[in-house]
Amino acid sequence: MANPTSTDLLSQILQVSTRQQPEMLQTLQRLVETESPSDNKAAVDQAGSYLAQEFERQGGRVTIHRVVDFGNHLQVEFPGRSGQKPVMLLGHFDTVWPLGTLANMPFRVAGGRAYGPGVLDMKTGIVMLMYALRALNELGIRDHRPVTVLLDTDEEIGSDSSRSLIESIARQCEAVLVLEPAQGTQGSLKTSRKGVGAYTIHVHGQASHAGVDFEKGHSAILELSRQILEVAKFTDVGRGITVNPGVVRGGTRSNVVAAEASVDVDIRIARVADAGELEQKFSGLRPFDPHCRLEVTGGLNRPPMERTPGTVRLLEAAQNLAKSLGMDLGESATGGGSDGNFTSALGIPTLDGLGAVGEGAHAAHECIFLDHLPLRTALLAGLNTTI
Ligand SMILES: [Zn+2]
Repeated sequence: MANPTSTDLLSQILQVSTRQQPEMLQTLQRLVETESPSDNKAAVDQAGSYLAQEFERQGGRVTIHRVVDFGNHLQVEFPGRSGQKPVMLLGHFDTVWPLGTLANMPFRVAGGRAYGPGVLDMKTGIVMLMYALRALNELGIRDHRPVTVLLDTDEEIGSDSSRSLIESIARQCEAVLVLEPAQGTQGSLKTSRKGVGAYTIHVHGQASHAGVDFEKGHSAILELSRQILEVAKFTDVGRGITVNPGVVRGGTRSNVVAAEASVDVDIRIARVADAGELEQKFSGLRPFDPHCRLEVTGGLNRPPMERTPGTVRLLEAAQNLAKSLGMDLGESATGGGSDGNFTSALGIPTLDGLGAVGEGAHAAHECIFLDHLPLRTALLAGLNTTI
């Protein structure tokens, strides 16, 4: 068996992944055209069935984890050196795009880019991992760790139904490679992500006629406004803590002192150590107007993915391979969370952003850059053989 990291072998892998590109695009088109919004189980399951069939065709052992309210999660095992812990390849095939988006945003290839709902986040990443494994298989490279692919269906809405599955599989793995899109148009890898949480502050006030009984009213909107100013003070950009009151609701008519009002707040933290303090601050909120009552719900949903030594080792391995492929691979931190936050918080070395390079995730111009595709697929295949 040749040294898997040898430049020679790497260039063979690159040749295969370059040759695979037309077929990869066909697979990608089929996957993008099978729309899969997180909240539509039937649609997501259709995408899952297609993926299951493709993985089975390439010799993967597929397990479907059934879920009642969301799409079924997909686990696929590929064999490797016996007695070794597997590498986990992690992704999701739900998208933020509602059914019917294709009518205005069809899959199309133009100007060296491929467009379509979910093409960047993260259907191309799934196709890349599929073809990276195919390339290894085609070249007869079997001297690597076993591979466990986990693709879930509710990442875009917080991974409530997949979190325990992700964590239980990750605990048995040596490392986790996350196929979320790379950062920026140069395609940096992600070694840290902020933790993400959400709170809702609901104010119950006292309604009254704004003209006749103004004094009898206790405005939920006024109280909420003060609370919003209060939570805005929790932001500490220097420590990587941000608090964003993103949605407000309240009141019924302008001539009524509002009885109800609420705000949805997004929180981000860079370090897990800051979670407790922030939680205390939210639970310590008290009404300014004693006739108003506060209901505060929520908390941290994803712990931060911190830049651990294990993650740095994975990054360095990827950067070395990239150099052999003639690529310059950067490193970045992001405020956005992913399923990699869960695995990293367990202490499993996790490297994220190994998926497609492109721009416009969650936006109408969402696209991937095609010239990165063979290189990144080869990088992923190479990384699989070096861990
Ligand atoms: Zn994603």
